[in-house]
Amino acid sequence: MNYQNTLAYAQQQDNEDKLSYLRDKFHIPTDKKGNPWLYFTGNSLGLQPKTTQQYIQQELDDWAKFGVEGHFEAKNPWMPYHELLTNKMAKIVGAKPIEVVVMNTLTTNLHLLMVSFYQPTKTKFKIVIESDAFPSDRYAVESQLKFHGFNPKEALVEWSPRKGEELLHIEDLENILEKDGDAIALLLIGGLNYYTGQYLDLKRIAELGHAKNCMVGIDLAHGAGNIQPNLHESGVDFAAWCTYKYLNSGPGSLAGLFVHEKHANNKDLPRFAGWWNHNKETRFNMRQPFDVMPGAEGWQLSNPPILSMAAIRASLDMFDEIGMDALREKSEKLTGYFEFLINEIDTDRIKIITPTKTSERGCQLSIQVKNADKSLHQKLTDKNIITDWREPDVIRCAPVPMYNTFEDVFTMVSILKTLL
Ligand SMILES: *Cc1c(COP(=O)(O)O)cnc(C)c1O
Repeated sequence: MNYQNTLAYAQQQDNEDKLSYLRDKFHIPTDKKGNPWLYFTGNSLGLQPKTTQQYIQQELDDWAKFGVEGHFEAKNPWMPYHELLTNKMAKIVGAKPIEVVVMNTLTTNLHLLMVSFYQPTKTKFKIVIESDAFPSDRYAVESQLKFHGFNPKEALVEWSPRKGEELLHIEDLENILEKDGDAIALLLIGGLNYYTGQYLDLKRIAELGHAKNCMVGIDLAHGAGNIQPNLHESGVDFAAWCTYKYLNSGPGSLAGLFVHEKHANNKDLPRFAGWWNHNKETRFNMRQPFDVMPGAEGWQLSNPPILSMAAIRASLDMFDEIGMDALREKSEKLTGYFEFLINEIDTDRIKIITPTKTSERGCQLSIQVKNADKSLHQKLTDKNIITDWREPDVIRCAPVPMYNTFEDVFTMVSILKTLL
């Protein structure tokens, strides 16, 4: 790319951007005077599509109008409401519809998936995570180990960056499996690391794990709606992700769950049950013995919160209209521009820890600033630039292709430069 370090160039890129119309479809938060924020934290909480309100309102209206009959009489009947999300969500993560369901929240889904896919024995019981896994994932895994009577000190294996480095090497996972694979039962890896922004090769991880008869699960919290993980093709056994980050579905909204087709009809997999993973044809007879549904739907437990699903539907309809390919294309360009501008700052205080290869990252760049403290983050915030600070010295910044502009990126870097 022949990027240029001028405002005029950034504005021209916005003019030529086929997706620039999308920004207007979101509520962009503003400061007290009404100036829009430069919002770079779509990796924490995506912005609200303007259509979300009407999608939720529809369900509120139908609840008011129909009460319990809304399960069948609502414009979008609530009984099969989650099915309205499945195909669109499946496309976003590159899965078959039978492999995907929207339900619960992310950490809950990880636990339910481990009930099925973490089946330790006395000799094969260890779980591998990244040393810098998101805390919730680490806590979930540690608690699963303890629940099965293992000591995390022995049973939790960490895949770490090499000394003095931040990023992971796949060869190091290979070595772990070479050495300890017979004792490892499960790999549970963040597909796109929340801290470094590194996007790992899921297919390779699946191959390495499967070669040692390990189950392979992926947390896609920072991947879904950001990169195309091609989950089906990757061959991983299971995955889960939240929808409130890049999928713009509102704080604490429901999560996605993927179980690979190869497990779709395995009724013998241990799992927890509720009426919602019972065969939908006979669910309301209420008297049958439990008859589990095939595919990802077979992990549901409860009837789902329709209001939250309405918000997800509003967002997925946007994703579906645009498609991940077009979003990714813009995203690579936008983040590439961001990287170019950062590298133009003439200082040795700044280092981007996110990989330089576009195939190894999503939209986020994690920028390490030597001798900086949280006051730098505060100064950015005072200038309406919303980023995320991670101790000791990293700014995480995610230009989101749906609503961030080349001008946002240009302005952000200009201000960062003056603050240094
Ligand atoms: C955001 C995030 C979570 C959050 O979990 P919830 O159950 O949705 O609160 C968990 N894991 C990762 C990797 C995340 O990025």
